Amino acid sequence: MQALVLEPNRELHLRDITIDEPLGPHDVRIAIHNVGICGSDVHYYQHGRIGPFVVDAPMVLGHEAAGVIVEVGREVKNLKVGDRVCMEPGIPDPNSRATRLGLYNLDPAVRFWATPPYHGVLRPSVVHPANFTFKLPDNISFAEGAMVEPLAVGMHAAIKAQIKPGDLAVVMGAGTIGMVTALAALAGGCSRVVMTDIVDPKLELAAKLGPITPVNIAREKLSDVVSKMTDGWGADIVFEASGSSAAISSVFEPLAPAGHVVLIGMPGGPVPYDVVAAQVKEARVEHIFRYAHVYPRALALMGSGKIDVKPLITDRFAFKDSVKAFDFAVAMPPTSVKAQIEFPD
Ligand code: ZN
Repeated sequence: MQALVLEPNRELHLRDITIDEPLGPHDVRIAIHNVGICGSDVHYYQHGRIGPFVVDAPMVLGHEAAGVIVEVGREVKNLKVGDRVCMEPGIPDPNSRATRLGLYNLDPAVRFWATPPYHGVLRPSVVHPANFTFKLPDNISFAEGAMVEPLAVGMHAAIKAQIKPGDLAVVMGAGTIGMVTALAALAGGCSRVVMTDIVDPKLELAAKLGPITPVNIAREKLSDVVSKMTDGWGADIVFEASGSSAAISSVFEPLAPAGHVVLIGMPGGPVPYDVVAAQVKEARVEHIFRYAHVYPRALALMGSGKIDVKPLITDRFAFKDSVKAFDFAVAMPPTSVKAQIEFPD
């Protein structure tokens, strides 16, 4: 089949590749419709690796996908041919200790699309376990369905934050993950989100998504803004979604006493962490890695209209222009959030 293949020399080709995918009794075959381009896809394209994961054999990119079921395994009961679906890209070992504990995102044996050595889904079809395939609500498009994967990260962060109705949250970083975290936090009960970045067009877009106060930290001090909004008390929750060392080392500044911090962004290496600043506020700090058990919740919130991801899908490319789409994603204008690739009907 024709696929978008990243070669070990970091060249990107739309070319034929043979992928042997038998349909198991608990699997479904999905015709791919939309695939979002993720920061990790772009990172592999530019650098050929992320940490210990090295592209040393041709690999199909893409892991944020939605499509239509075209074949079902004989034991599959919950899905049928023609169902519109989105898919969780990580397949854990069902018998691993992590999976049995409900922590399947932490299973060391997880096979995650477009993470070497596993192929992604920028190709016409894929075979996937039915249990990691989720029906889209009727009012949700394929493009929105392909946004569930990044949204799941924000959902997982919102759940870890243990939001209480009316909480004020800070989200550091107005990239895709910061944006979906803000949407999940608001849907999860936050009354308002204060969002930081240093790029004005990103903050302007964020401010249109809901009760979100943009703060350009190149001009304004975040802790001053939060202090003014809360009569000096601070934010109940701080989500760190930038991965920037400076942001991470300042997470406790705007935080209220006994507030919750969720670290989402991945810095390039070890960063300073102010233990005393956390202690004097008895801060509770959570870390997240991908997500688990949140696709149905994300789809329910999108279906009911509580979360609208449409404004985040800013750029669309046809599958035949996939290489062009990636070159666009490497140098995204600040007005863009998510670029997607669409397959012909
Ligand atoms: Zn992604």
